[in-house]
Amino acid sequence: MRGDVDPAGLGVCDAHDHLFLRSPRLPGEELDDPAAAETVLRDFAAAGGQAFVQWTPHGMGRGAHVLADLSRATGVHVVAATGLHQAVHYEPTALAALYDGLAERLTAELTAGLPGAPAGVRAGLIKVAGDYHGLDGHTRRVMQAAAEAHHATGAPIAVHHELGTAAPDVLDLLCGRYGVPPQRVILGHLNRLPDLRLHRDVAASGAYVALDGPSRAHHATDHHLFDTVAALVEAGHAPQLLLGADTTTRSARHTPGPVHLLTALAPRLARAFGPELPARLLKANPARAFGVEWRS
Ligand SMILES: [Zn+2]
Repeated sequence: MRGDVDPAGLGVCDAHDHLFLRSPRLPGEELDDPAAAETVLRDFAAAGGQAFVQWTPHGMGRGAHVLADLSRATGVHVVAATGLHQAVHYEPTALAALYDGLAERLTAELTAGLPGAPAGVRAGLIKVAGDYHGLDGHTRRVMQAAAEAHHATGAPIAVHHELGTAAPDVLDLLCGRYGVPPQRVILGHLNRLPDLRLHRDVAASGAYVALDGPSRAHHATDHHLFDTVAALVEAGHAPQLLLGADTTTRSARHTPGPVHLLTALAPRLARAFGPELPARLLKANPARAFGVEWRS
């Protein structure tokens, strides 16, 4: 948000979350309050957090105008996203207007800057989404544009998986068809589908797996988070794992959220797998996953 960050200086990172988010699917639950966002970052920083990656894409109220100020005020690095979510998160007329020149638009947000943001405030990742157990015409179109923007810039692609499904389809399309290296793909929400064998299969591709959950009260993501991390660590995938709180609604702000990753989950992981694992998942892996050798 405040320009490029040396990966070594990114620090302890919530790898998938939201400070700002707006969708017609979530009326009354908008995350649109800069003061509330500042409190989230301050609490996270007080718990030891240093970097916060927001996966809110184009057209969903990313807060581009204030992210840099919030980062400066709190000392937390904030990484913003370009890309598009599923069609249901947009008004149909607005969406139709976005398709023309989509790859160029995404590339421009990574290189020139975000619309509505102060000069030089750019996105650092490309967010896309799959559908439930498949990919529709919209999500395929967006993934093609995302792959083009990746090839133009080197930026990683972060993927929302609907209820944790369709990761094999996403890898086939992005990596198989469009040649995005799996190491530049971050698979989100897989733990919404607690199928550990599938998790191990897709992790074998080399893609990063961003596990999230504590901002979802009574949701399978939280119940399964520790066991999912454990299964992937035991299968040798610790270098690919990222942790995030994924706070998407105003109601979810009342859950422990990003702080929980540091104060509850990290100590548990340290007890189970040794003191190095939390730093690996929260610091070393995000530095690699979000580090970019910018091509333009
Ligand atoms: Zn998210």
